[in-house]
Amino acid sequence: MRLLLDLHPDSYPLEGFRKRQLLEWVFVQGAGSFEAMTNLPADLRATLGEEYALNPFREIETVRSTDGSVKYLFTLHDGRQMEAVYMPYLDRRTICVSTMVGCPAKCAFCATGAMGFGRNLTPGEIVGQVLAVAGGEGIAPRELRNLVFMGMGEPLLNYDHTMLAARILLHPQALGMSKRRVTLSTVGLPKGIRRLAAEDDLGIKLAISLHAPDEETRQRIIPTGHRNSIVEIMAAAREYQATTGRRVTFEYSMLRGVNDQLWQARELAGLLRGLVSHVNLIPMNPWDGSGFESSTEAEIQAFYDELEARGVDVSVRRSRGKDAGAACGQLALKRPDAVTGSAASA
Ligand code: SF4
Repeated sequence: MRLLLDLHPDSYPLEGFRKRQLLEWVFVQGAGSFEAMTNLPADLRATLGEEYALNPFREIETVRSTDGSVKYLFTLHDGRQMEAVYMPYLDRRTICVSTMVGCPAKCAFCATGAMGFGRNLTPGEIVGQVLAVAGGEGIAPRELRNLVFMGMGEPLLNYDHTMLAARILLHPQALGMSKRRVTLSTVGLPKGIRRLAAEDDLGIKLAISLHAPDEETRQRIIPTGHRNSIVEIMAAAREYQATTGRRVTFEYSMLRGVNDQLWQARELAGLLRGLVSHVNLIPMNPWDGSGFESSTEAEIQAFYDELEARGVDVSVRRSRGKDAGAACGQLALKRPDAVTGSAASA
């Protein structure tokens, strides 16, 4: 049976008015079943139910953080598991979605990387995270206006499925998200960055996890990083900007005594010269067995000041959901001793 959410909205079954009704049920109302689509004739609902599955998940659990963030743990129909994080800010609601079960990039500070690679998610399994989180939070799917491909997995290694998911997210008859509010975060794959730059109908934003300005440190943090040198990554970022005109964000996890030295801030500033960019400094989020600790507030401030003095646009990103194991680098299917519960499931 096919997963309906795997289809591009233009390829949905039915025609004209009925097709619009179906799309509205799925993406505007967030209907959990074909039976709930009460303005479709009963025989049509039955036929759809025989040919398509609507829900990509067998089970959904939630872990709620005291700061309001919620980690969603999804069990897929093949029994594999992955996660998304919902972050309700005062003025906006953001969702961080996964593109893979596990991740092959193996970043040393990241709990997901330590799990290894499971499999790619399908487009519907990616988009389904948005619908499930909206359902779990009791809001309309379109109220989730900000999305980051920053959960489990390297989106550029699941390229086609991630691109189709992005097109479904942006499609006016589907979730209608603004391209300016969707960000793809990559470990830095030059080929994928160039392909993304060429997707000129998409226009989503790019974030690159650089984490170090020198090869030796970067390969310690990202053991698979040797496949793409920093020089190649920066060249791809410059090409991306020349093609799209868009600013590039660089993610930088602050690891104490590893990548937080002032000479590294100076090298980073040098790498970014002439590029319209923004640097996010992210205090490392601890997890058992990571072998790293976060830089202190004072060390982060000194690194920040060094960058700012060299004209780098920089901010410190405070991760949310630490107590729920939902912060950056913590996603590893753990259920910490926070408040757990169930959301709507198949
Ligand atoms: S930080 Fe991202 S790319 Fe690196 S291992 Fe974790 S999920 Fe994969």
